[in-house]
Amino acid sequence: MQVKKKKEIRAYYAALSRAWGPQHWWPAESAFEVIAGAYLTQNTSWANVEKALANLRSAGLLAVEGVRNVPVEELERLIRPAGYFRQKAKRLKIFIDFLDSKYGGSLTRMFASPTKRLREELLNLNGVGPETADSILLYAGNHPVFVVDAYTQRIATRHQLLSERARYDRIQDLFQEALAPMVDSPVLRKESKSNELILPKQFPNTAHPPSPMSTAKRTALAQIYNEMHGLIVGVGKHYCRKSQPRCDECPLRTFLPSPK
Ligand code: SF4
Repeated sequence: MQVKKKKEIRAYYAALSRAWGPQHWWPAESAFEVIAGAYLTQNTSWANVEKALANLRSAGLLAVEGVRNVPVEELERLIRPAGYFRQKAKRLKIFIDFLDSKYGGSLTRMFASPTKRLREELLNLNGVGPETADSILLYAGNHPVFVVDAYTQRIATRHQLLSERARYDRIQDLFQEALAPMVDSPVLRKESKSNELILPKQFPNTAHPPSPMSTAKRTALAQIYNEMHGLIVGVGKHYCRKSQPRCDECPLRTFLPSPK
């Protein structure tokens, strides 16, 4: 059963990436912009995050030194469009304190840490749950960890890959185990090519423009996890909505289990 589920996940990846191409996640100019975005995106839309990031950028503060030196009241004002601005300003300051005390203020040194250790350290910070920690690790640091979000959970549940009570780590393990062998297996690459989908003509283009972070050097495994998350976001945003999913038009409709 697990083998079948993993094969199906690889088929999602192959079909969606052929249809949409590189998604260029995460759209950012620097690793710190990814980190700030990962904090700011909690409980709000990406459009609101972009406004907050634009404020920080135009104030010249979208960098470690900027957030370190700015008074917290000013930081709150600048990130206000992202909501929960007091809490988020405090958490960004806590991240900088952690970076300074543990890694001498250097993101390069921080990301040189082993993945497991750094993940545990990030998870110990105020306001950092598994999705935020993994977004920072994968998209700012190019560590090979798969990011599970609400869309991943919803698609996995609706396609009966996992129960709706499945926890973050369980979902992450399934997707990582499914996708990891694609890195160096010609058999799997061949197998994935046999899962062609017929796509609607007005299939939306979900990709971001290339950015310094989306095109940064990373391992093949990190690239596969990077792309899969971006593709899942595309499905979730356009089709697999919380209510009234658009299954009839969805590129993953051929994988939907038949009603019992
Ligand atoms: S919208 Fe797409 S991904 Fe969601 S349940 Fe329907 S077919 Fe599956």
